[in-house]
Amino acid sequence: MGIGNIVFIILLIGASFLFAKNIRRLVRNINLGKDQKIDDRKGERWSLMARVALGQSKMVVRPIPGILHVLVYAGFVIINIEVLEIVIDGVLGTHRVFSFLGGFYDVLIGSFEVLALLVLVACVIFLIRREVLRIKRFWNKEMGGWPRTDATLILVMEILLMGAFLKMNATDQILAERGVGHYIVAGSYPISSMLRPFFEGMSDGTLVLLERSYWWFHIVGILAFLNYLPYSKHLHILLAFPNVWYSKLQPKTEIANMPRVTGEVRSMMDPSIPPPEPAAQNMVAGAEVPDRFGAKDIFDLSWKSLMDAYSCTECGRCTSECPANLTGKLLSPRKIMMDTRDRVAEVGRVIDAKGKWEDDGNSLHSRITDEELWACTTCNACTEACPVNIDPVNIIVEMRRYLVMEESKTRPALTSMFNNVENNGAPWAFGPDKRMEWTEG
Ligand code: SF4
Ligand code: SF4
Repeated sequence: MGIGNIVFIILLIGASFLFAKNIRRLVRNINLGKDQKIDDRKGERWSLMARVALGQSKMVVRPIPGILHVLVYAGFVIINIEVLEIVIDGVLGTHRVFSFLGGFYDVLIGSFEVLALLVLVACVIFLIRREVLRIKRFWNKEMGGWPRTDATLILVMEILLMGAFLKMNATDQILAERGVGHYIVAGSYPISSMLRPFFEGMSDGTLVLLERSYWWFHIVGILAFLNYLPYSKHLHILLAFPNVWYSKLQPKTEIANMPRVTGEVRSMMDPSIPPPEPAAQNMVAGAEVPDRFGAKDIFDLSWKSLMDAYSCTECGRCTSECPANLTGKLLSPRKIMMDTRDRVAEVGRVIDAKGKWEDDGNSLHSRITDEELWACTTCNACTEACPVNIDPVNIIVEMRRYLVMEESKTRPALTSMFNNVENNGAPWAFGPDKRMEWTEG
């Protein structure tokens, strides 16, 4: 075993350890949300996941970005089979360990190359759409700073990784044909063979140096990408699947009742029904969190809403369909998801720093204004458009419930409606005894 293998093993262990740590933190953060049991209609859920997450059925509704995304996704998944060979070679000091597969190996490497080219082209087109054509949904207010850098960074990283993969193969072929060291003639190279003229005139030593550099760049890039995921919108690569599995299966516009309120109303209507027990205090991350009506902070949302927030790809399809946003209102459902995710991450950092949750004086409402919340028509165009079945409306409704029921804050236009419900048991300005008066005279 050479020094290269030892360095590789240390890197691999280090990157895997970091990744496991990041995933543990992510799961902890998602579990800061309220418990919600979602395990019904399992068959329907598996088929939804196969259709929407694996088959990307909602992505291709917009054919150009949809097909490009399918290419990048397929390339990402399939080319990573190659990583398995790279890892084994890196650990054992072998070279192209799967080459014993013969003709099948040729097919594999050939397909990886075609896919690598397609991914590369797709990423270049994505970059052009973002940076040159400046498609509107990528330039909304919430897309400045880190979100834009994140999107660009990942596209550039993909282009560099695919480029390194193809150049590695091009130099490898020449070295194999020259019979240098452990390089062996194996695989088929429909794309990288076109790059050979750039390298043909180089000495063996230079080619070995280049081939090894591309090899290391490729694998170190992938390990870095793995640990970059938890800080990026690209986390959806992992979370899209569970997030779609746990989708809301009820009609989109169905809004869940609040069990305690329902219990109170039932008890008022029928005195034989006892009022609900007062809610128990929740313990979250070592601290007591009061049970509230609606959502003041992330602890009041369900874990599914927090998973939604982490699964958001920031694609902006929701915002581009939102009638409130389209008519110039402040609301952007994408921003709601990004703000929720950023708040969860903020709470997570406090817990990491202090060992338990300590109120930092902020909440979801520090990031999302009342004006945004009240602009929502609950039409659900956003949930319909979302390629990973995220539900921003649930967060909006829960936050509104908090405003109304805990803070007595509402829109002036709604005040008389609330008063009427309270006094007359209906949204109208007359009592139940007067409801039929319109039929008289
Ligand atoms: S439900 Fe609300 S946030 Fe979603 S599209 Fe309709 S108005 Fe916009
Ligand atoms: S909520 Fe869905 S549609 Fe909206 S930006 Fe996130 S992933 Fe895209």
